[in-house]
Amino acid sequence: MAGVPEVDLSECTKCDACVEVCPEVFRFNEAGFIEILELAEYPEDCVREAIKYCPAECISWKDSE
Ligand code: SF4
Repeated sequence: MAGVPEVDLSECTKCDACVEVCPEVFRFNEAGFIEILELAEYPEDCVREAIKYCPAECISWKDSE
């Protein structure tokens, strides 16, 4: 069971990797921080790739409930 991804912004280096591998979930907001788009369901494979490529290891799954 996947749930909802979350980003620890205090660790994020804004490297762009998550946006590159999974633009349907991650994007930079106007303030220049990563934000997670609101989706009913998150594509597990894509988020898993982002987690794998995040150099700061600051993406994780949060339980949806
Ligand atoms: S891959 Fe990780 S460190 Fe890079 S922008 Fe995304 S959340 Fe931040």
